[in-house]
Parts: sequence; C-alpha cells; structure tokens
Amino acid sequence: MHPSDLQNLKIAVVGAGYGGAAAAKALSLLGAHVDVYEQANRIREVGAGIGLRPATMNRFREWGIFDAIAEVSSPSDYFEILTPTGEPIMKEEWPAAGEQTHTHLIHRGDFIEALLGVLPEGMVHLGHKLEAVEEKDDGAVLTFANGNSVEADLVVGADGIKSVVRSELFGDKVPVFSGEHAYRAVISADDAHGMVVDDNFRMYIGRGTKVYLLPLRHRGQVSFDITARCADSTWNPQVTKDDLLATVQGFDERLVSITRGLDIDTVNARAVYDIDPVGTWHSDRVVLMGDAAHSMLHHQGQGANSAIEDGGALADALRQAETVAQALALFQATRKPVTDKLQEVSRHGWDDDGIDEVFPGQKSAPAAPAAPGVRE
Ligand SMILES: Cc1cc2nc3c(=O)[nH]c(=O)nc-3n(C[C@H](O)[C@H](O)[C@H](O)COP(=O)(O)OP(=O)(O)OC[C@H]3O[C@@H](n4cnc5c(N)ncnc54)[C@H](O)[C@@H]3O)c2cc1C
Repeated sequence: MHPSDLQNLKIAVVGAGYGGAAAAKALSLLGAHVDVYEQANRIREVGAGIGLRPATMNRFREWGIFDAIAEVSSPSDYFEILTPTGEPIMKEEWPAAGEQTHTHLIHRGDFIEALLGVLPEGMVHLGHKLEAVEEKDDGAVLTFANGNSVEADLVVGADGIKSVVRSELFGDKVPVFSGEHAYRAVISADDAHGMVVDDNFRMYIGRGTKVYLLPLRHRGQVSFDITARCADSTWNPQVTKDDLLATVQGFDERLVSITRGLDIDTVNARAVYDIDPVGTWHSDRVVLMGDAAHSMLHHQGQGANSAIEDGGALADALRQAETVAQALALFQATRKPVTDKLQEVSRHGWDDDGIDEVFPGQKSAPAAPAAPGVRE
C-alpha cells in the first residue's frame, strides 16, 4: 500500500500479549495509527522462561528493538534432549547453519515488559475487554465490556486461545485438551543442584514426562518446567508437591531434588490446550493472529515465536499489497501453511516419531525406555 494510505490507516489490535504487542510495534513502524485494547487492568505473565528463536530476534533487529530484548535475555548455543538420567538423545545447534543470531532465553515477564516498553505512551488501553465485533464495508466496530466502543479500518484479533474475535467472526474453535499439565517455576540457579552448567536449554524426557531446564543467566535463575500426562482437564488444576514428585520419579536424582525443593505456592500449574487449525483467518477488514489464529502445544516452543513472526508478516503484507483486503489474504497465504504444520508437529510432542519428524536423522541414540515409575 502507498505510504500515505498506510499513514491514514486506523488499526485496532485486540490483546496485549506477545502477538498484539509485536503487531503494534511492526504496524506503527508503517506509520499507521495503532491502538491496542487489552482486557486486563494490569499486564502479568507466568513465572517461566521461553526461547526466542533466531527468526524472532531478527524481527526485533528489523524493528530497532533488538537491544531492548537482548538486555533482558541470554543467548543459548543449543537445545539438547536427554533421557531422564542424562544420556544425550539429540542436539539442535543455535544458530543453525546460515543463521547469524542466537536463540535468546528470556523470562516471560521481562519479555512482555520489554515489548510493551517500546510502544509509544498511550497506545495500550487496559481494562478493555472485547465483547463484540461488527463488520462494516470500510472497517469494523469493537464494543467493550466497559461500555466504550471504537471504529477502525483494520482490526487485528490477537486475543489468544479463547479469542472473542475468532468466535464472533470466524466460527468457534473450542480449545482441545492435550491430556497434559505444565508445571512451571523460576528458581535460583543456586537451588538447581548443579544442573545448570552453562547457558544452554535442556529437556529430559521419559515416556510421558518432560523436564525442561532453561537457564536465565542474566537473572542468576533457571526456569524449571515439567510437562506430564494427566487426565484432569481443569484449566488451572490444583497440584501438590507429591503430585510433582510422582511425575519425576526415576529421573536424575538432582532433578528430583529440585522438585522437592520447589515452593509449591510459586509453581504455575495449567492444563495444556491448543486448537484445531482455523479454516480462514480473515475477512476484508478483520484478521486473526498468534494463538487466536493457531494456538499450538508448547512442545516445539513455537507459539510465542509464531505470534511475533505473524506481527512482522502482517506489516510486510500491508506494505506489499494494494488494499487492506489483499494484504490480509497475502498474510494468511504466507503464514498459515507454516503454522498449520507447527500445530500438527507440536501435537506429536517429543515421542520418538516427533523427534524424527522435527529433526530427521539427527537422533544420536534411541530414546531410553521410561525409567521405572515414570508416569504414563
Ligand atoms: C506451558 C506453556 C509453555 C509455553 N512455552 C513456549 C515456549 O517455550 N516458546 C514459545 O514460543 N511459546 C510457548 N508457549 C506458547 C505461548 O505462550 C503462546 O503461544 C503465546 O503466549 C501466544 O501469544 P498471543 O499474544 O497470541 O496470545 P496471549 O499470550 O494469550 O495473549 C492474548 C492477550 O489478549 C488478551 N485478551 C483475551 N481476550 C480478550 C478480550 N476479549 N478483550 C481484550 N483482550 C483480550 C489477554 O488478556 C492477553 O493479554 C507456551 C505455552 C504454554 C501454555
């Protein structure tokens, strides 16, 4: 689109998560008028770490915010998968051949704070819970629970797995329970019983349970996460220390000791959900992105990364196309094949087939059988 048309474009982004914040940054760099509407009165994130992939970091470089993110993250050279007792299964080098940027490990809270921190003052409107979207010929009207309503030329639905924008306009996709729970905590590296030996991200896997150690060197901490099978689909389940200890039975004694030492009040427990692929992400004036469009299981660590890449791809499409409607079609054509595949691969988890599908031929040894007592 012509720069002067982009400068006249009024864009409303629904949701101030990673996807909404990234889209707001990328779209405002086009010169458009961007407002972000977030239901929460205060932005809070789960105490846990994630890895920002090279493609994500490259987008931050392009948007001039690489340093703001790098300041609150640590580069990691590789991701390693090991058996419950530490025998290597495979290793993914970061950066991979041809990439110049490392994956950066970051605390989720620092990440959202840094992303929102690079947006102009006043762009994010808290306490705006979207209730309805009405499309018009030349835009859409958003109505919020607080009684406000706004009109925009383009609406970006970045409102997560339970997206109101999606259910209003693109047919509801009920979240699908994976049969797993995620238990997440950030602890001092000093409490990790010598398991944090460098800055690299490791996952220990025994049938049914994955234990992640994601070092946050800049904080002197490590994100300690367990994903385990459990039939209870309650979104925020109640768990006890004994429940957690049962999931890591048979793992390296030091991982068991870390689990025993956790302050259970600081452990975030949630059932893990995704959605089936959404057929169409857009109309002529409204588009879905991030988890609203393609929520996926976390086994490949790609959900937040995909949301950031969506933000960049949406801005690219608006720059390249002649109209908003064409741009939204181009955005979907660019991103949906990628995220459809990621949704599918993520459902495999990290069983033997999953490792082969993501890293064909790279497995260095067959995955060890589950240690005695590891929960199915
Ligand atoms: C256990 C677990 C581990 C994960 N690990 C990783 C990882 O290592 N790497 C990775 O890349 N991804 C990971 N993810 C996935 C990642 O967290 C999500 O993909 C990412 O948060 C999606 O960002 P989003 O902005 O699209 O949605 P969200 O983060 O869900 O943000 C949506 C925002 O919209 C707001 N909102 C919702 N409804 C409304 C409404 N009606 N009106 C206004 N605002 C609204 C919400 O309050 C929220 O702020 C993990 C997920 C889980 C569950």
